[in-house]
Order: sequence, then C-alpha cells, then structure tokens
Amino acid sequence: MKVLKFGGTSVGSAERIRHVASLVAPRGRNIIVLSAMSGTTNTLVEIAQYLYKRNTNGAKETINLLESKYLQTLPRLYDRLESREEALKEIKASFNYIRSFARLDRFTSTEEKIILAQGEIMSVAMMTILLRERGLNAEQLPALEFMKTGDNGEPDIHYIQQHLQPLIDKYQDADIFITQGYICRNHIGEIDNLQRGGSDYTASLIGAALEVDEIEIWTDIDGMHNNDPRFVEGTRPVSELHFEEAAELAYFGAKILHPTCILPAKVNNIPVRLLNTLEPEAHGTLIYNNLAQPSIKAVAAKDNVIAIKIKSSRMLLAYGFLTRVFATFEKYKTPIDMIATSEVGVSLSIDSERYLPEIIDELKQWGTVTVDKDMVIIAVVGNMEWTNTGYEARTIEALSEIPVRMISYGGSNFNISFLIRKEDKVKALNLLSSKLFNNNAAK
Ligand code: ASP
Ligand code: MG
Repeated sequence: MKVLKFGGTSVGSAERIRHVASLVAPRGRNIIVLSAMSGTTNTLVEIAQYLYKRNTNGAKETINLLESKYLQTLPRLYDRLESREEALKEIKASFNYIRSFARLDRFTSTEEKIILAQGEIMSVAMMTILLRERGLNAEQLPALEFMKTGDNGEPDIHYIQQHLQPLIDKYQDADIFITQGYICRNHIGEIDNLQRGGSDYTASLIGAALEVDEIEIWTDIDGMHNNDPRFVEGTRPVSELHFEEAAELAYFGAKILHPTCILPAKVNNIPVRLLNTLEPEAHGTLIYNNLAQPSIKAVAAKDNVIAIKIKSSRMLLAYGFLTRVFATFEKYKTPIDMIATSEVGVSLSIDSERYLPEIIDELKQWGTVTVDKDMVIIAVVGNMEWTNTGYEARTIEALSEIPVRMISYGGSNFNISFLIRKEDKVKALNLLSSKLFNNNAAK
C-alpha cells in the first residue's frame, strides 16, 4: 500500500481532478491524500477575517464567490447526472455550514478552523464521487476521525495509528481510500489543522502510521531540481536524495517539500517519491535513507539573511564568550543559521530582523558588532563526508569570483554553506551549476 498526495494545483479544476482520478484509479489499493482546490484555503482565511471583523456582508460575498467557483466546476467534473447531484448536495452543505458562522455573535479561532477545514472536505467528497462514478469501490478515511495532535501541538502518532488501522480494516472490499490533507483534531477534540501547506505532513504521518511501502507527493514539477529553475537554466531533477539532503534543501528554500513532512517518513524509513502529475511516467525524485556514492547533488539559496560579527574586545579565546553571545539570541528567540568562529570573534547569521536592534544593543557589551543585511546563504548539498577529498575545494573554486562573507562546513556531512551578498546570488547559483553539474546554459 502507498500514500499518494495531490496538492491544490493538482486538483485545481474539473479537468485536473479528472486527471488525478485517472492517475490513481489503475494504481491499486492506496490512500489518496488531497488538498483543497488551489486558492480555496486562502479564500477561507479571508472569509474568517471578515467574520473576525464582524463584516458579515464581506464574508457573505466572499462565500458566494467561492461557492460559485465550485458550482461551475461540478458540471465539467462528472459524466452522470446522479454524480453531479450528489456532489452538489455535499458542496451546498459545506457552504451553508460556512454561512452559518456569519449568524453567530462570537467568532473565535475555533470557528475559523472549522471553516478552514471545508476546503479539504469538499475535495475529498468530489473525488470520492468521481471515483465511484468510474466504478471503483472508493472509501473515505475521514481525517477528523484519526488525525490528531497532542497537548504539545505535535501529531499524536500513537493515536493516529490506533484509529487509522481499524478504519482500513473496516473496508475490506475497498479498491481505494481517500482522505483530507491538512485537517485534524487538537488534544481536546476540536477541529484544527497542521498549519498551511500541511497536506504533505498528513501524507507523511499516514505513511509512517501504516508503514506503507512508499509516500508519493504529486505536484507539477518533475521532482526536486539540482538548482533553482527561476534563476538557472537547464536545471535537472535529482533522481535520488538521502533524507538528510532533502531536509537541507527544503530548509534552504527548495520549495517543493514542506520541511516537517520529511521527519515521520525518515524516522520510519518510508521512501518518499516526488512525482509530476503532468508527466506521470517520469522517475521524479526518490528520497530515502540509502546513502549513495559521495557526490554533490544540488544547490539552494536562502534569502534575507543578516550577518552579525562580534569581535571580542577583552581577551582572545575567552571562555564563556560564546555562551554569552548565544544567550542573547536565546533571549530574543532568534535561531542562528550559520556560525564561523576565530580566536578573536564570531560571525553568525540569522533570518529574522524582528529583534535585531535589541540583539545588537546587548551584544555590544561583549565586543565590537558589525551587521551586514541583504545577504544570501548558498547551500551546496550532497553526500560530502569529510574524509572524502575534493568537495570543499570544488565548491570554493566554483565561487572564486564571488566575495564570500562566511563559509560553513562540518556541522553536517551533507552541506557546505556560503554567505554572500544578495546581488551576487544569481551569478553564484549559475557558477555552481556550470562548475559542479556541467550545466553551461547559464542565464
Ligand atoms: N489547503 C492547505 C493550504 O493551502 C493545505 C495544503 O494545501 O497543504 O495551506
Ligand atoms: Mg574532505
């Protein structure tokens, strides 16, 4: 059994939903995880904002608009009138439920989350009816019956396991299962969600709970590319990645996979495959725990980074100096991304400006502070275990024309990071592609 997750764009229109149905139907007794149709969750957020502000008319107009989008989808979605009528009933029920909140005197985050859940609920309803129309015995696994977070806000894996397996067992004759991504219940049983973009997380949690053979994340891109296609021409999908490499890439801005998605799959050793709905036979990117030959796999960039340098004013190599510096960042809840130290000082990078004035002010007790804004981290990711030779040299050589503010290697075997100026980013990404991946089609 596999988990197949389809995001908002993949189910963004009648045609796309039909395409997904055709993709999943011949693939066997799997679990299909769906997002809301693209744009839906944003619109539901907007409706909630009107309701918070007591703007009932604003809310109702927005509800009507979204509803008409769904109603226009239905006639193109189904071949049979009965299917269309059944779906119409479900869609109407969801929208009338959403409307009912406009009549309440109180609107809190509890009500908002109920509204946000309707997008995924409608996707699943529409798909179930479509797959049944096509002759499949399709069964829903309602996420609200098994997907749950504990009092720490984290998914309760034990609960998920205990409630999901019986649902599967109940439907022995099912050809295929469908469930809602993103939505869940919290520790007191209220409707909640796994944060925006959380459908990948749902897929990973289900995959881990049932120990499936593979988790497939279907999008519109043919896997994770070896560089950012917005800035570099001729990028190619990476065919295999270790979970650690994928985590590094996701963290450094390769947008294809939600970073938290990776963890349950990694821990439970379930391979994750990134596939393209527009090119279903392509290999995509396989992410698993196998360590391939040492190699450099991909490059990613993280924008809006701030570099801070603190030069110790008192003694060289003073013990306690780093502790005091780090304590400041802890106090202002600001995570540090990169660090480079020398005997006289430390350079580090952060990606949030929120407490920057306070942080700088406090650090000035310990030394001379310099700040560089508008910096970018370029992460070179691959299996670069330190005893292998040449990887550091090749990446540094590739960037020989670029002024580098910081370099970091050794915190992980999978990453060498460079901090450079924003204006050098595109050039750096292209140089790395041409020097590391023999990609000469630089923009
Ligand atoms: N529909 C939700 C969102 O737009 C969850 C998801 O698509 O993953 O954030
Ligand atoms: Mg080495």
